[in-house]
Amino acid sequence: MQYQAPERDAQFLLFDVFRAQDVWAQIPALNDFSEDLINAVLSEGARLTAEVVAPTNQIGDQQGCEWRDGAVTTPQEFQAAFAELAAGGWLGLAGNPEFGGQGMPKMLASLIEEMLWAANTSLYLYGTLTVGASLCLDAHGTPEQKATYLPKLYSGEWTGAMALTESHAGSDLGIMRTRAEPQADGSYSITGTKIFITGGEHDLAENIVHLTLAKLPDAPAGTKGISLFIVPKYLVNEDGSLGERNGWASGSLEHKMGIRGSATSVINYDGATGFLLGEENQGLAAMFTMMNYERLSVGIQGLGSGEMAYQQAAAYAKDRLQGRASTGPQNPDGPADSLLVHPDVRRMLLAQRALNEAGRAFAVYVGMQLDLAKYAQDAEAQTRSELLTPVAKAFLTDNGFQGAVLAQQVFGGHGYIQEWGVEQVVRDARIGQIYEGTNGIQAMDLISRKVLRDGGVNLRRFVDLMAQTEVAREHQADLNDALDRLVRVTAYIVDHAAGDPHLSGSVATEYLDLFGLTIYAWLWGRMVSVAPADDFGEAKRATARFFFARLLPRTDGLERSICSSGDAVMALRGESF
Ligand SMILES: Cc1cc2nc3c(=O)[nH]c(=O)nc-3n(C[C@H](O)[C@H](O)[C@H](O)COP(=O)(O)OP(=O)(O)OC[C@H]3O[C@@H](n4cnc5c(N)ncnc54)[C@H](O)[C@@H]3O)c2cc1C
Repeated sequence: MQYQAPERDAQFLLFDVFRAQDVWAQIPALNDFSEDLINAVLSEGARLTAEVVAPTNQIGDQQGCEWRDGAVTTPQEFQAAFAELAAGGWLGLAGNPEFGGQGMPKMLASLIEEMLWAANTSLYLYGTLTVGASLCLDAHGTPEQKATYLPKLYSGEWTGAMALTESHAGSDLGIMRTRAEPQADGSYSITGTKIFITGGEHDLAENIVHLTLAKLPDAPAGTKGISLFIVPKYLVNEDGSLGERNGWASGSLEHKMGIRGSATSVINYDGATGFLLGEENQGLAAMFTMMNYERLSVGIQGLGSGEMAYQQAAAYAKDRLQGRASTGPQNPDGPADSLLVHPDVRRMLLAQRALNEAGRAFAVYVGMQLDLAKYAQDAEAQTRSELLTPVAKAFLTDNGFQGAVLAQQVFGGHGYIQEWGVEQVVRDARIGQIYEGTNGIQAMDLISRKVLRDGGVNLRRFVDLMAQTEVAREHQADLNDALDRLVRVTAYIVDHAAGDPHLSGSVATEYLDLFGLTIYAWLWGRMVSVAPADDFGEAKRATARFFFARLLPRTDGLERSICSSGDAVMALRGESF
């Protein structure tokens, strides 16, 4: 089945729901972007992903990557597709124009990213790390560092990678061991071993720029003693040409459940030359510029997987003939009716659709907060984006995986075999819940850092904003109930967390789901309020009805589970596991 980018929905979100044209008109850096230009970019993104990127997806999964003596070969078809992606300027879409980026809004970039993730998750991993590394360099680099690296990253001639994880240090980066020794010339000598490094080594670009976390010899213990370094594969000469090969190499590739076209390396740094990015011992904070970008991007990966899976399942359900409708034959000339007549199949398709469309709106909304923070110095939008980032990462990837599994279910046994491609989406979507900070870590970030730390004040501000926005009248009461519930549950956690050190950790994941569903209720209410009186609008209204009737009520159970948790999670003695 051919992937088709959801172009109409993208336009609806940008111009009808979020009124991007009004937002951009207020921001000098963005007011050149006309609706026509943005529509042209969306159309070209849709063409590129359908015609160039998507056809490499299944074959890339089958071929996988190969390691030989430190060199890594990616699937053959990736070469031309990545070259076209790079040459088209897609990796510099939202990049700094001073260094060759196109300075386009994140609201738009989120939608383009979804297309790329959906069309080929493995291939776009090389892209997303390049975009994230550029953002980090742009935010923390010296003018020389920016001039050296950014134009090459935006053009995709070089790619980026983020090197954090070590075998004993994953979620807990404070205990990492990679060392950085200061050298007389101002550079650092990096020694240590990183594992699971996506795009750490490959053959798609002439240089690979690692952003690597390491500790100085006299660094304070824990996360306060981490510094960030630029450690390129080839050192760059003063004139910008490539010099000596740096002292790191891929030690091996991981063999994985999914994203098999993405090369995941062990990287051995053996006295490699690194250049400090930002300040000594401030590396984790600087890396967070990249990590926050990647968290939203990985969330959008989940959304892309969910959309790809839905498109496959919906097409299959229309064609596949099995059984008869309970009201009598709908296809009397055929041997059976299509799967679409069965309410249980519709339930699965509608759940995917309702979560994908709200998820897309959510990704664009978070993108809008990032645009407002960056280009209009809107501090409130910055805080809101920080509150929403862990939700975007975890809720979108959880729903993406669950959507992929639902799509597989719609296919019955045919979903379990390779031919149809949906089992690949399930395998590829699963990693989104794990890397870039597991979804458990995202939930902890939300509850501890983003909600409890200020006693729920920012969350309350966001709830007030949701309550004040105009939504479709038919959904207002359900939305109000959901907002009340979120406020009630937050107050419960704020009140009880101080006296119960296990509470926030025990209920964090449910709390994130409750928050996510409430945001989706708000977004559905907004979408319906501006949905047009045509087939597209009709489908929006029907999908919203399903969301409010069948998905939002889950918040009821989540509230009960959170508020009656007590010590249920901690009661079983450790030795009994
Ligand atoms: C395919 C792939 C690609 C990757 N790409 C990269 C990359 O490019 N760069 C990079 O640096 N890393 C990368 N990673 C590493 C990835 O980010 C880590 O695997 C992930 O952050 C989890 O770390 P871990 O595997 O050590 O698990 P652990 O940290 O050992 O976690 C195990 C479990 O315990 C839970 N847990 C741990 N600590 C806590 C806590 N404090 N509170 C509550 N729960 C906790 C986790 O949620 C998880 O469920 C990649 C991994 C994979 C598999």
